[in-house]
Amino acid sequence: MRQTLAIATGKTLLEILHRTGRGGTAFPGLVATKIAPHILRDLTARLPGGSAMVIGTNGKTTTTRLFATILETAGVKVANNRSGSNLIRGLTSTLLNQASLRGKLTADMGLFEVDEAAFPQAQAEIQPRLILMNNLFRDQLDRYGEIDTIRKRWAESIKTLAPGTKLILNADDPSMAYLARFAPEGVKTVFFGLDHPPLALAKLAHAVDAAKCIVCGTNMVYDAIYISHMGHYHCPNCDFRRPDPQFVVKEVKLSVSEGSQFVLETPDGPLELKVGVPGLYNVYNAAGASAAALSMGIATGHVTKGLEKFKSVFGRIERIALGEGRHLLLALVKNPVGFNEVLRMLTHDPAQKLKMMVIINDLYADGRDVSWLWDVDFEVLADRLGWVQTGGLRATDMANRLKYAGIDPALISWEEDIATSLKLAMDRLPANETLYITPTYTAMLQLREILQKMGLVVPFWEE
Ligand SMILES: [Zn+2]
Repeated sequence: MRQTLAIATGKTLLEILHRTGRGGTAFPGLVATKIAPHILRDLTARLPGGSAMVIGTNGKTTTTRLFATILETAGVKVANNRSGSNLIRGLTSTLLNQASLRGKLTADMGLFEVDEAAFPQAQAEIQPRLILMNNLFRDQLDRYGEIDTIRKRWAESIKTLAPGTKLILNADDPSMAYLARFAPEGVKTVFFGLDHPPLALAKLAHAVDAAKCIVCGTNMVYDAIYISHMGHYHCPNCDFRRPDPQFVVKEVKLSVSEGSQFVLETPDGPLELKVGVPGLYNVYNAAGASAAALSMGIATGHVTKGLEKFKSVFGRIERIALGEGRHLLLALVKNPVGFNEVLRMLTHDPAQKLKMMVIINDLYADGRDVSWLWDVDFEVLADRLGWVQTGGLRATDMANRLKYAGIDPALISWEEDIATSLKLAMDRLPANETLYITPTYTAMLQLREILQKMGLVVPFWEE
């Protein structure tokens, strides 16, 4: 009875919001949950193929989209929270959107990107058959508290998993290896990881937060570091070490314009994969999504095709053609780890003198405190820049940060107003060159609006 009322109310609200042009909101889900607190459990229980979940600090949206694209390629109908609404109310809205008034769902299975803090509750409600765990970074700490706290909460949640649940874990992240220890009997743990020594970094980046053994606190030893704290590690004092993954990424070829190619060794032989989004972190995302899909029994051909046809999620990496061979490449930055990875991708070709725009806002959604910019290794840009222009509310702070990074002040200019700043940068961009733009979240929203007015991009978040 309550369920029926919750579904009807939720759907009515969705309909109203949709008509007034405010689709994709979590509000109807919130209201439905107030009427029937376990409506999410009730709705997901109706999915014949059950549900899968993706969690992690970095890359969960892209990973979820990659996973969904593979499943759709295989003909599986997926209920997927696409617009990044990854709290309980958002997940509820997603299912309400797909349910009939009588609560019948058209999807075969649910695939949910879940917020770090919402994971224990979402897991208890949804009872997923598969959980893909990407990584745990010191992201949004102001919102969630220490990384240890999140890890403890996840561990408690993992202890309650039902037999038969599959846990797909990134072996290169010590937190994920640690969490696997809490899986009860009957839960299947599957690891994926990277093994390509030429891509290993010389040292741990500034933004590292997991260099100490989680079990005993001793400094860990790394034989290879790929991104931040992710790599091949072991504790010299106890038995904690990187697990041997069943899915191993090898022979990675990175390209900014073409995306990446790599070989994924699987228990059933190697697969040659191509993913249309650049950056080593997207190789991890693609490997995780592939390992998850293959563990579900999806055929290799669907995995290969699914990855190939994948298009970048809004704002993650976006290329826009300007004419005369000129391009804009937009890469959203929201934390030191992600920013470092973008810088690494951009500085891949030592011959190139980068033309760059760094747009930093400090509104609520960006994080009010911009001290995180000091954890970004802008030093790698020192002899690699043609010029750089900063923009946004913290344009001057950003310009200052670049000066401290050893960049020739003559190459740095700044202008707070994003539209003006963009125009200045575009005016000086030579033919056949790319302007690399790294905005924070709200800066990206403003930038998209400006570009749209110039007739350069399509609206986003269309469902
Ligand atoms: Zn140890």
